[in-house]
Amino acid sequence: DVLLEGAQERDIDLRFNTEATGFQHAPGLVTTHLRTAEGTSELRTPWVLACDGGKSPSRERLGIPLEGSTQEEKWIVLDIVDSKVTPEMFADFHCNGTRPVVIVPGVKGRRRYEFMLLPEDDEATIAEPASIVELVRPYEEVSTEQIRRAAVYTAHQRIAGEYRRGRVLLVGDAAHLMPPFAGQALNAGMRDAANVAWKIASVLRGEALETLVDTYEVERRPHAKQMVDLSHRIGQVVMSTSPVVTTIRDVALSASGIVPPLKKYLAEMRFLSQPHYSDGVVAPVAKDVPKPVAEFVGRPIPQPVVTTADGEVRLDRVLGTGWAAVAAVGPDQLRVTPLGRDGALVTVTRRDDLLKELGPGVTLLVRPDRYVAAAYTGAGQREALRRAARDIPALLEWSGTTTTD
Ligand SMILES: Cc1cc2nc3c(=O)[nH]c(=O)nc-3n(C[C@H](O)[C@H](O)[C@H](O)COP(=O)(O)OP(=O)(O)OC[C@H]3O[C@@H](n4cnc5c(N)ncnc54)[C@H](O)[C@@H]3O)c2cc1C
Repeated sequence: DVLLEGAQERDIDLRFNTEATGFQHAPGLVTTHLRTAEGTSELRTPWVLACDGGKSPSRERLGIPLEGSTQEEKWIVLDIVDSKVTPEMFADFHCNGTRPVVIVPGVKGRRRYEFMLLPEDDEATIAEPASIVELVRPYEEVSTEQIRRAAVYTAHQRIAGEYRRGRVLLVGDAAHLMPPFAGQALNAGMRDAANVAWKIASVLRGEALETLVDTYEVERRPHAKQMVDLSHRIGQVVMSTSPVVTTIRDVALSASGIVPPLKKYLAEMRFLSQPHYSDGVVAPVAKDVPKPVAEFVGRPIPQPVVTTADGEVRLDRVLGTGWAAVAAVGPDQLRVTPLGRDGALVTVTRRDDLLKELGPGVTLLVRPDRYVAAAYTGAGQREALRRAARDIPALLEWSGTTTTD
């Protein structure tokens, strides 16, 4: 419903029950061939984002290879509604060495179980309601009416060799497939969408060069690969049924409980690294920028609650939808200057210490996707902007810097 409403508000032409059957490239244009029950048609657009899932017919047609491997083990995922069990804060990994289980708490009585299938299991039989009730019984009593979904799946750890072919870009599972253990598959797809959308929009508005679109793969692919590999490694720990491996694993994990920070690190999955772009639309940081501030570059800007004339809001509400410059103008004041299209100069009072490192005299340049592209002092401003604006000439105009400066 949220997506439908959003699409309607933005006048997006949504077509259901429509299959994309092929592409044709022409200079500056892609023709997508469509098929519906009524017949065939064509759609001409400057770009195509192929978000057609793990099996991605687009990826196949474009001849883009998938690198990586597929697991031998299969899993059954079960979604239960009206669960009477008090939900845990975090997912439970039952690495019991016999039938590994992952239990993911949901909201409003929803609970997800994922059981690894054993060699003797029959895929069709195990997905029957009576078998599901038995599988879940050690964890809770459920009736067949509480089963919302049951699906057997095989996990892959694979990534597309390229994210772009001509004017077609792979996004989401079409670009990367990972086992579910780190819960990062959909996250990675959403990050892809947030990254590529503003770049395509900038090119279409004539603000950026087409080369900006190439930074999508430069920025997103390395982190997606990291998540694919990490999910695979977690899976190896969770899925083992070898007595030797499970004994070593269990002893090591129990020992980690003696060291509280290590336990917290593991239990809260703090080993999940957030994206950090060192290449793409980011400028190298000059030496006169303090190190803690330099650390912001290439990462999402923190979102402290700030006080505006209209009350308390998250910082991103005052950043606008385009580029913005954020600078400290007092011990607890930030000046947010939207560049280019929208927004107005806002002085906000910061209400927590997330941006406390940002002292007077240093500015953060924030991209439309809220990643920090540059951090600079007055002396380094021109060079930082020039580097960040390599593919976005309009940024130089908006910031009052010209290429001939
Ligand atoms: C059983 C299971 C449980 C999961 N649980 C989680 C979870 O808890 N957390 C998480 O983060 N991720 C989870 N995932 C992964 C998550 O579902 C995917 O990462 C996510 O759905 C990928 O989104 P996507 O839009 O890239 O692709 P998809 O959701 O696969 O969407 C692709 C769409 O493209 C359409 N399509 C395909 N070909 C064409 C064509 N030729 N023309 C037109 N349309 C086409 C398909 O019909 C589909 O609607 C799970 C996956 C599975 C299988």
